[in-house]
Amino acid sequence: MLLKLPTEPVPIQEIPIQKNIKLFIKREDQIHPLISGNKYWKLFHNVNHYLEKSPDNPYIITFGGAFSNHIAAVSAVGSLAGIPTLGIIRGEELQHKWRDNPTLLFAKRNGMNLKFVTREEYRHKEKLTEFLQQEFPEALIVPEGGTNKEAVEGVKMMLNEQTKDFDYLCTAVGTGGTIAGISKFCEENQKVIGFKAVDDASLENKIFELTLKHNFDLIDSCFGGYGKINDGNVRFINDFKERYGIPLEPVYTGKMMEKIFDLIEEGYFPENSKILCFHTGGLQGIEGANLLLEKQNRNLII
Ligand SMILES: *Cc1c(COP(=O)(O)O)cnc(C)c1O
Repeated sequence: MLLKLPTEPVPIQEIPIQKNIKLFIKREDQIHPLISGNKYWKLFHNVNHYLEKSPDNPYIITFGGAFSNHIAAVSAVGSLAGIPTLGIIRGEELQHKWRDNPTLLFAKRNGMNLKFVTREEYRHKEKLTEFLQQEFPEALIVPEGGTNKEAVEGVKMMLNEQTKDFDYLCTAVGTGGTIAGISKFCEENQKVIGFKAVDDASLENKIFELTLKHNFDLIDSCFGGYGKINDGNVRFINDFKERYGIPLEPVYTGKMMEKIFDLIEEGYFPENSKILCFHTGGLQGIEGANLLLEKQNRNLII
């Protein structure tokens, strides 16, 4: 088993707020030094089941954008397992610029082959997947963001005895696999809230298809678009780290926590609610975000 169950659960830390509400964060970002947060759990069964079959020519292929935490995670899996990996990357223009992108550089250093495709080609990744599976019949092909049925089963391991104690379970949403796992396996009395980092109207259906449950709400938390970072977002992340000693990244967890603080201010949560947020990791993305902010002469994430 390449990806192992941890000997100890990651900590659940209280975020002390001056309100009649209890707010906690579960540090999935601490699950593994290289494969962080929800990506570890989403890859868990996918990779372990694949390796249990002892393929003669193991090969892992996946898809992602230039700042994808999933691409970083799969490349690290490949490096740990000694398996070649291929990342299909959105954006042909990166072909000659990947060295300037810390995520892609990390993937390359882990031995991942990168193939850059146009946005148009990337949009047809289902077709590309079919083609690749014919070309490499033994390969494990993981969809974008790692979201599939096995990923949803893996997310179950983010829940335990301790997480049963909360009224609300909150997570950031990209492709929806993580919230699907939480919704599918949480207690019946728990409410699940997904903070959408991406403005994608099809998410609700996608999540329902994976869970067949309607126990979740989605709240827009993309602050102007996926991956767009405004100065307020940067300020929030820096204040949060200074106050509570917990780093957040700007694409998912920073925006989720900022939105949760807004909702608490607005009285969205009833008094005495116990809220648990999942820190889904992705801190490797801060470096790339800072390079862009620096180019624009803006304040950096500290
Ligand atoms: C990928 C990612 C998410 C989104 O997870 P999905 O399962 O795709 O919805 C949330 N947070 C972080 C830090 C991520 O890297």
